[in-house]
Amino acid sequence: MERTFDALVVGAGYAGAVCARQLAEQGGKRVLVLERRDHIGGNAYDCLDQAGVLIHQYGPHIFHTNDKRVFDWLSRFTPWLDYQHRVIANIPDNAGGRMTYPVPFNLTSLETAFGPKEGKRLGDKLLAEYGAEQKVTILELRQNADPEIAALADYVYEHVFVHYTMKQWGQKPEEIDPNTTARVPVFLSRDDRYFQDAFQGMPKEGYTPMFERMLDHPNITVELGQDALKRLDVSGDEIRVDGEVFDSPVIYTGQADELFGFQFGPLPYRTLDFRFETLQQDDFQGYGTVNYTVDQDYTRITEFKHLTGQKLPGVTTIVKEYSRAFTGQPGETPYYAIINPENNAKYGQYKALADKFKNLHLLGRLAEYKYYNMDAIAGRALDLAEMLLTK
Ligand code: FAD
Repeated sequence: MERTFDALVVGAGYAGAVCARQLAEQGGKRVLVLERRDHIGGNAYDCLDQAGVLIHQYGPHIFHTNDKRVFDWLSRFTPWLDYQHRVIANIPDNAGGRMTYPVPFNLTSLETAFGPKEGKRLGDKLLAEYGAEQKVTILELRQNADPEIAALADYVYEHVFVHYTMKQWGQKPEEIDPNTTARVPVFLSRDDRYFQDAFQGMPKEGYTPMFERMLDHPNITVELGQDALKRLDVSGDEIRVDGEVFDSPVIYTGQADELFGFQFGPLPYRTLDFRFETLQQDDFQGYGTVNYTVDQDYTRITEFKHLTGQKLPGVTTIVKEYSRAFTGQPGETPYYAIINPENNAKYGQYKALADKFKNLHLLGRLAEYKYYNMDAIAGRALDLAEMLLTK
């Protein structure tokens, strides 16, 4: 192994693929990438479904960043489709029907929720108080001496935040971290884009072709359907791969608890059940993503054609997302780390075990037990590769 490869990368998602490419290209390292799934791309993987619709197998992924370095680097492997993500809340109205308005809650949402005249009056009040284009948290609104402004905070909490968060995290209202609640924004703008980042878009041909190009390098060998834990041994003082000591860098992007045999117990996660439906119609909901912020068992519905810009008349595919606790059963994917002091402490125990090996590097949303957006983890992978190459 050591004679054939200069680095082992476990996982072919953003963390693994970006790091592998940099080590191979900038450092001339021969890199072996082991991926447990039968495809590359990690959770950003996309593919055509049976109807020919380009779908995101593990939930909708929208690329956005203010990090020019990351955007430029990824742009080597894909052209981009200019896509500005807009999210709509779909909630019951007082007349037995439903209403929709942009989230994050903004001036347009205000006029839909309270009617054009009343909404405009409240909006003008907010603008006079806080200024245009500001993101004001509901904590700030609650602290306002004007009872109408304080009441607006309660409206947004109830109609946009609390039920959605309860569904997503399986929590009761009193269990929701008050700091998270306090940060819920009201955007004093008519800009209804979900993100205001400088660079936003979708890889023009999809994420998977972007990953294919990234990993297409003479120094990179990718093996799919390979559970690295069957070949990687961290039970001794030195890392062994296929039974032999391996002193070169190991970049591990899988679960930290699994790597060490769950010896301090499993790290808790939320998982998602995705229910895909293909419908014989051009358009289902007019938007990429609609959040059900008050009712329904699912959190949101995504219609892929709006994200990918794919032109395919007469057919569309949507996905409904149901959030629940991760139990570790085969076929389940851990999606979101449940960050709290207790779980962080448990993660710290696994990290301490990893730190005993000078050549073992935990990287990515699973290995670091953190939520990272795609741009953030790509940036961390670039940093790690640079550190390894200058060491
Ligand atoms: P992953 O993508 O999970 O890749 C890890 C890889 O390691 C996997 O392929 C896994 O199979 C492999 N692996 C694990 N263990 C082993 C093993 N033992 N042997 C071999 N291989 C192994 N970010 C955004 O920027 N925008 C979005 O819109 C967005 N939407 C998201 C929606 C959802 C539902 C979720 C869950 C996340 C979203 N993200 C989004 C975050 C994004 O998915 C992550 O930033 C990204 O996937 C992190 O990449 P990673 O390489 O760390 O992890």
